[in-house]
Amino acid sequence: MIAQIALPVPLHQCFSYRLPQHMLERVSLGLRVRVSFGSRMLIGVVTGIETTECGDASLKLIEEVLDDRPVLAPAMLELGHFISHYYVQPIGEVFFHMLPALLRQGQSSRLPTQSIWQPTALGRLISADDLRRAPRQWRALQVLLEFPSGLSRQVAQLHGITTADLDNLVRRELAGRTETHESLPEGASLLAEVPLTPSEEQANAIAHIQAQPGFGCHLLEGITGSGKTEVYLHLIADVLNRGQQALVLVPEINLTPQTLQRFQQRFNVPMISLHSELGDKERLRAWHHIRTGQLRLIVGTRSALFSPMLNPGLIILDEEHDSSFKQHEGVRYHARDLAVYLARRQGIPVILGSATPSLETLNNALQGRYNHLHLHRRSNRSTPPLTLIQDIRGQELQAGLSAASLGHIKEHLQRKQQVLVFLNRRGYATSVLCHDCGWKVRCPHCSVYPTLHQNIGRMLCHHCGWSSYIPQSCPDCNGSRLIASGTGTERLEQFLQSMATSLPIWRMDRDNIPNHRVLEHTLAEIHQNQPGILVGTQMLVKGHHFHAVSLVVVVDTDAGLFSADFRSPERSLQRIHQVAGRSGRSNIRGEVILQTHDPEHPLLQCLVQSGYPAVAKLMLQERHQLNLPPYSYQVLVHCQGRSTEDVQKFLSEIHACFASISPYGPVCAPIEKKAGLFRAHLLLQASSRPMLHQKMASLPNVCRDKARHGIRWWIDVDPQDLL
Ligand code: ADP
Ligand code: ZN
Ligand code: ZN
Repeated sequence: MIAQIALPVPLHQCFSYRLPQHMLERVSLGLRVRVSFGSRMLIGVVTGIETTECGDASLKLIEEVLDDRPVLAPAMLELGHFISHYYVQPIGEVFFHMLPALLRQGQSSRLPTQSIWQPTALGRLISADDLRRAPRQWRALQVLLEFPSGLSRQVAQLHGITTADLDNLVRRELAGRTETHESLPEGASLLAEVPLTPSEEQANAIAHIQAQPGFGCHLLEGITGSGKTEVYLHLIADVLNRGQQALVLVPEINLTPQTLQRFQQRFNVPMISLHSELGDKERLRAWHHIRTGQLRLIVGTRSALFSPMLNPGLIILDEEHDSSFKQHEGVRYHARDLAVYLARRQGIPVILGSATPSLETLNNALQGRYNHLHLHRRSNRSTPPLTLIQDIRGQELQAGLSAASLGHIKEHLQRKQQVLVFLNRRGYATSVLCHDCGWKVRCPHCSVYPTLHQNIGRMLCHHCGWSSYIPQSCPDCNGSRLIASGTGTERLEQFLQSMATSLPIWRMDRDNIPNHRVLEHTLAEIHQNQPGILVGTQMLVKGHHFHAVSLVVVVDTDAGLFSADFRSPERSLQRIHQVAGRSGRSNIRGEVILQTHDPEHPLLQCLVQSGYPAVAKLMLQERHQLNLPPYSYQVLVHCQGRSTEDVQKFLSEIHACFASISPYGPVCAPIEKKAGLFRAHLLLQASSRPMLHQKMASLPNVCRDKARHGIRWWIDVDPQDLL
């Protein structure tokens, strides 16, 4: 018997090992085994078992089987094979990416047990006198008698009793010790609160999804506050009622306890939030409880897709347009597309929710592949905000804000409302330059200018992390007139504070809000609805409702509308639309100001006059005319090296082999040099996905062949940006 083993090495193949006689019974697909590979011992996953007549005796034997039960169930094995094939990723690395870190390191996959001590009949009869030489044991026995159904180690510790005391009782046959699996407490009833009565539109969406119990992909399009989450809650209730599990995927930044709170308020079932701050042990524990079906509701970021659900019933992807569903490092995949794959494989519905669906998803809906459901009205019946395009050409700007915008801000603050100022650039200034000779501070390792962070008193490169003191004079001309140019959120905050001295300013960006605890704290302050100003980057855009915000000012509307990346306008308009959706509440009409140097921009005009669905269709038309995704399919070969010549040479050789699907040839990446390495890429493109995949079948091998020393390369299928 020969087993195929996937090993965590960057190679696009599995490896054959012989099965020793005594393991024949124990080995099945999806189990972990230990094998020797070169000079190392590695853990691998069994992906195939075959019987051969003429077994190659030179093959190595499997050393050890680590599991009794597969750590990757058939559906997950299939998903892994699909990822490896579709995204052209090394199979072993894919499988390892799908497992919790502790399982990758070889920890046991057996369900952890906990010891429970109970008094025996003898223990119940014995008197203090019998145990007078063992007062600790007597005390332990007394505590034990208070817990006739069993005492766990944790509870014993609370009473000052050690496991040694209890085990001594076991030795005297005064107590018994049993091992049980940890079980999560469940409420008596599933619902913890009475659900809201769905509006007509919500009821319609719910009915449509319920009517298709097997696989179906549903795009739920509705502005913020239109009640998408409420629709999810109704459908999750169905799933839980059937005894199944539901998986909810959310963007990284959105994953705050708040999201989970909404679910906890509604349901009495065990649930978990899988976020990046979770430790390895907690993650493994969750993995076990998901696998036994005890955790009924799983909320998490993209990697939660690999949760080993015993009995899946529904997958929901909220904010489906969000680019954080794409994994940009290591194993590259798009959680949205995989969620659809997995739902199809499991025969369950998948819901993609968004106020601003991605053009890919919208196209799928328009083509009839996805079911398109709409929520048009806000549940709280407020009117949509009044949006103004504000021409700032020739205007004097203060920290990026025009006099007109400032006037509006003051007005809203005087009315005791909150104002949101959106600027997607953190730091104080985008560069520091010499007023006399034009010299600029540069990052020594990257082809970019570092950002000035006044709060920490340093220049910081956002691309490689390089930091330095802020120069006081110009090293070129010795001039001392250095200027901080370009506005970031720090400067904006400082300026607004000087204008509104008595009001709170909440700056929400990655520097000021490092983790979800600070985020929670800040949100709690904002939700007291006192007048004040929110200043922030895209962190402001995602998932939060700000009920007291009546004015939104977008400082730099143009950023992103003009960029080398064809997806940039889509992202930018989604952000603008999403941030605009933060304004307005039931009784006040919200106002949105878009500051721009290009007031006639057709996409901007279309967004303001006709809304996101219209501008999305316009963008789709443009993509169609230019034969760009979703009307064509792309693969990017990235390359990094120590010189421009090295990377160009490598990519030219790749280009020569794939010229028929590479219309443009190698080009420098938008950030040419990063962390000391030169970067370039080669775009492969075709109008049919199967054809593209067929023609690039040999791509990984060719890349490996051509890569000289010092060249790093990787393949990105369906690339989301050209970084
Ligand atoms: P979304 O997820 O689209 O942003 P939510 O589901 O969070 O929208 O709903 C926005 C607000 O409207 C929430 O405060 C929610 O409680 C309320 N809401 C949603 N649906 C209803 C309903 N059918 N009846 C009353 N209030 C609702
Ligand atoms: Zn100078
Ligand atoms: Zn740098």
